[in-house]
Amino acid sequence: MASIKEIEWDVFEGLSLADKKPYLERGGGDAMPYHTLFAQQFDRSLLERLTALANRIRFINKSREGALYLKGVLAHKRAMLYFSQPSSRTFLSHLAACQILGITTGSVRDAATSSEFKGESREDSIRTFSSYFDMIIMRSPEQGLAEKMAWELSNSSRPIPILNAGSGKDQHPTQALLDIYTLVRSFENKGGLDGRTVTFCGDLLRGRTVRSLSYLLTNFRDVKQIFVAPKALRVPDDVVDVLREKAVDFEITEDLQAAVRVSDAVYMTRIQDEWDSSKGESAKIDTSRFKFGAQELELLNPDGVIMHPLPRRDEIATCCDRDPRAMYWRQMRNGMWIRAALIAATFGYENEIMNCGY
Ligand code: ASP
Repeated sequence: MASIKEIEWDVFEGLSLADKKPYLERGGGDAMPYHTLFAQQFDRSLLERLTALANRIRFINKSREGALYLKGVLAHKRAMLYFSQPSSRTFLSHLAACQILGITTGSVRDAATSSEFKGESREDSIRTFSSYFDMIIMRSPEQGLAEKMAWELSNSSRPIPILNAGSGKDQHPTQALLDIYTLVRSFENKGGLDGRTVTFCGDLLRGRTVRSLSYLLTNFRDVKQIFVAPKALRVPDDVVDVLREKAVDFEITEDLQAAVRVSDAVYMTRIQDEWDSSKGESAKIDTSRFKFGAQELELLNPDGVIMHPLPRRDEIATCCDRDPRAMYWRQMRNGMWIRAALIAATFGYENEIMNCGY
């Protein structure tokens, strides 16, 4: 089986995501990732296995005995949460996922409190973490950094897995996993996710969750994707190219209400103004037509769902919050379960948990 050790960084960096995938898998005959870096690592069978494992973990965790069993599964492991970009849910849900599995954690949330402040390189920081921990869960404003670090570690004397918890404007694979888990659960007794229409709305140009989820949706049959954004924040070409290549039905529009009328799920996103090249750049864009409120709620199909990766600003009016179709609160909690599933699977405990007696 291919190993990331067998390839130079310059060559690995230049590969397509599909070609990088085999280098990132766990050994031992299954295709679960060792490093989780981008959404393209997950096909339908992996998604089904992970959602089944997440369901299993949440069920086992309901009883005291079950919860104590889970706490023993990875009690011999330690994880480092290395977040050099702001985070609430992604940090806390990974932390809670580790706690469910009994993993001890450490964290750096601000490079100013680490030796990076003294000029240490990220490579050296990561090597340091790998001396003390068995996994690194990392978020960084820098695109591609998680990949570089995965390569570094795999070529070190103490390789440990990296989970990408958000990399620049690029990818957020674990968010996409929780989004898929939420969609699968939302439609599981209503005919499933195949054949549905999913609308993305907001800052589609710079939203990494959109790129990752759009890709994961291509694993499902006949899922149409509609992208609603002001011209300046339109879905980027690389996302569209993937959809074309996979012959996925999609549409780009500025008419949110028309999209809502035909959608099963509406995925709202905030304006990602932290990426503005000059101060106030995003504020000049008229985003007033790209918000979900009482009128859109009226138009949404009774079985539909409203999603948001959060944090929310004013993209979804608070009057929608108590509607049973508002799925953004459940999405958050689903994140904890699917991340617990991913971490357990990364360490090779999928079968043990699936087959345990609880
Ligand atoms: N929390 C998500 C992210 O980290 C979405 C957002 O920040 O708007 O990308």
